[in-house]
Amino acid sequence: MELLGKSLIGFRDSASTSASFSAWNPATGEKIDPAFFSASQEDIDLTAELAHKAFSSYSRTSGRERASFLNRVASHLESITDLLVARAHSETALPEPRLKSETARTCNQLRLFASVVEEGSWVSARIDHADQDRKPLSKPDIRSMLHPLGPVAIFGASNFPLAFSVAGGDTASALAAGNPVIVKAHPAHPGTSELVGRVIRDCVREQGLPDGVFSLLFDSGTEVGAKLVQHPLVKAVGFTGSIPAGRALMDLAVRRPEPIPFYGEMGSTNPVFILPGAMATRGKEIASQLHGSFTLGSGQFCTKPGLVFLPQQDSSANFLPEFQDKVAHSAKLTLLTLGIRNSYQREIQNRKDRRDLTLVAEGQQPSPGPAFVAGVAVFQTDVPGLLSSPDLGSEVFGPSTLLVSFSNQKELLDAARNLSGHLTATIHGTEADLREFSELLQLLTSKVGRIVFNGYPTGVEVCHAMVHGGPYPASTDSRTTSVGSQAIFRFARPVCYQDFPDSALPAELKNSNSLNIWRMVDGQFTR
Ligand code: NAP
Repeated sequence: MELLGKSLIGFRDSASTSASFSAWNPATGEKIDPAFFSASQEDIDLTAELAHKAFSSYSRTSGRERASFLNRVASHLESITDLLVARAHSETALPEPRLKSETARTCNQLRLFASVVEEGSWVSARIDHADQDRKPLSKPDIRSMLHPLGPVAIFGASNFPLAFSVAGGDTASALAAGNPVIVKAHPAHPGTSELVGRVIRDCVREQGLPDGVFSLLFDSGTEVGAKLVQHPLVKAVGFTGSIPAGRALMDLAVRRPEPIPFYGEMGSTNPVFILPGAMATRGKEIASQLHGSFTLGSGQFCTKPGLVFLPQQDSSANFLPEFQDKVAHSAKLTLLTLGIRNSYQREIQNRKDRRDLTLVAEGQQPSPGPAFVAGVAVFQTDVPGLLSSPDLGSEVFGPSTLLVSFSNQKELLDAARNLSGHLTATIHGTEADLREFSELLQLLTSKVGRIVFNGYPTGVEVCHAMVHGGPYPASTDSRTTSVGSQAIFRFARPVCYQDFPDSALPAELKNSNSLNIWRMVDGQFTR
């Protein structure tokens, strides 16, 4: 499949501006062909108009039709796995096996949402029958269900060129709920984006769906994304990326004359708490596994453990030498973009220059060259140090983590109380630790979306119960998740029908329940 570098405006290709950019190979620091052209204001307007028009019929397609569409996209993507992996590898330097499994995950996400909408109960149908005899006033017939919102703008992140990108979880959940999607391609992997975008567009055609159900816009800067979020025909936004970018776009979304829902999944430091019993019995093992977790994907995971609390006691002697040894033997690592590499190096130098931090260990350092390479580095402070410099709790995107020693339970709880919102928290402990530190678990439920026990936060299972989100700044709406089937609820809203005749109601709310979905009827769940 030859790449053209053009935006996909519904069924049309467009390269209507001369502003262009290219992908870069992070492993060599070289540009990769072809050039990609930024979308124009006319492109954005046409995209939004097509999506708006497509909404009226796409939103009324059945769950079965949408499932067939999503399954078709998954199969097509699977059939070009080798092509996708090769292009994504050249644009991101992420290892090919990782990209292969990310492709599989992307297809599985699409199939998960297909199964959810085919089954149909996700619409949360509720029926409260009328009661003419109720006194003093009769009760009306009230029925409600979820309906899609309208065109959704999606922004993917650089570190997941497939699973959090053009056909990622945001796109899959928005399409599944019945919304047309407009993706703003991430400039770090435009070729991968075009390949995936064309597959989705082909599937829209093959499925006989309307022009405008899917579009993909390129941009050399941030202008197109900002205009898209402010476009009056766009009705919601799904964003995955950094806190500054998410915040900037969220502010635009809420300042519109008609504010719209903005679902931003952003950066996180993912605190890990190693409790005394676990440290005493498994310190060495945790050191080795933690090293694997914070350097995974060159430390470029939103779930990277970036803050590690450990007891200030002799038992940490099992942990520290092993951890330092692992870090010291770490190879230099390739980062995704020059910008990410430069800001990582700036922050590492900043931490080295600080008097309140100790450099615990660092890995092999890169020699000057064009590749976007950096070294592993680990720093240490204690709880008073962290509490006096809350900025130390911010995400450093890359292969670094911060050890924070605590001297007693009170100190640890103070630190936990002062945490901002994160995607995850992890506790390493024994059952006795859990009893002794029971308040910690309680505190963490108000700080994060997922709490891991005796494991590591990197690696997010895609399933029905997963929660990938958290209080701000981990996400902009802590009530939601961007991974797992519950992600679909972000792109739908409840609509209530009062006293309508059965013939005029949507199938989901008719008396017969021909779709055989779970519904709440007069307060009881029933099929
Ligand atoms: P990013 O730089 O925030 O980019 C995300 C998208 O936003 C890109 O399309 C980017 O385009 C656009 N953008 C950035 N600034 C903008 C602005 N001011 N106005 C309009 N658009 C703007 O993030 P990234 O480098 O791709 O990803 C790394 C970050 O994402 C990390 O913090 C990581 O933790 C987080 N992440 C979170 C999750 C999660 O699920 N919570 C998953 C993966 C990654 P341009 O590059 O053209 O500006």
